[in-house]
Amino acid sequence: MDEIRIEGLKVYAHHGVYPQESEQGQNFLVSVYLQIDAREAGKYDDLSQSVDYGQVCALIHSFMKEHTYMLLEAVTENMAREILLRYQTVKSAKVRVSKPNAPIPYPFSDVSVAVERSWHQAYVSFGSNVGDREEYIRNGLLALENEADIFLLATSSMIETEPYGGVEMDPVLNGAVRLKTLLTPYELLEVLRRIEEAAGRERTVHWGPRTLDLDILFYDDLILEEEYLTIPHIDMKNRDFVLGPMMELAPGLVHPVYRKTIQDMWNELQEKK
Ligand code: ADP
Ligand code: MG
Repeated sequence: MDEIRIEGLKVYAHHGVYPQESEQGQNFLVSVYLQIDAREAGKYDDLSQSVDYGQVCALIHSFMKEHTYMLLEAVTENMAREILLRYQTVKSAKVRVSKPNAPIPYPFSDVSVAVERSWHQAYVSFGSNVGDREEYIRNGLLALENEADIFLLATSSMIETEPYGGVEMDPVLNGAVRLKTLLTPYELLEVLRRIEEAAGRERTVHWGPRTLDLDILFYDDLILEEEYLTIPHIDMKNRDFVLGPMMELAPGLVHPVYRKTIQDMWNELQEKK
């Protein structure tokens, strides 16, 4: 990946745990490394296809001045987020902030904190089989769209499928979305659960009736098998209601565990019937 580097931007600001730091302030040095695709900007000599580093410096400068954080961790975390939200062509931002005059009673040359934050691409499935199913789904997707750190990129159509798991209930309306997010998988799960709860979801019978079910299908090409989170979503090769919407969104996507495309899994499932 191509990179724009800004190094050692000096800003007088007021971050720190000690009162003299927040009151009097001190010099900070900020470095940012922005991952972009510079190909088009380079080929056409066109700034509008890249990121204006002068503007980024202005953003960093006012960000450092306008906030007062105790920790460099908070400074770097929030600055990386601000840059990624402001410049959507930046795929990943590494931010290092150092405090060469930090109140440490020993000789030292520098102290700094660096974080690297990125956009992630995820696929999330939705399903409903109680009441006004379309309305629950539409509201759920609106709630997702309203999250500051989530952008919906594509939405599949809604398809009706027979309920899964042998529980007697009404047919389910299913679909999926592709989104980009700054959230970690667990933070994304947390948001999905909050939106499910707002839709009046109660967890009674496993695989039972639900106003709204939101599951993470994929998160980049992450493989995760933990107690409360399995990514990619479990058993999708046997699930029409997952593969159907995914066929609309990304037939060529390769499942990182099965090493098969959505298209191949879909074909195999149709042959089994
Ligand atoms: P269902 O399996 O039908 O989606 P629930 O929505 O009640 O049932 O989810 C049960 C639990 O599954 C959740 O509490 C969550 O912790 C866990 N889970 C594991 N992996 C995932 C995932 N990829 N997406 C969403 N939930 C998951
Ligand atoms: Mg679920």
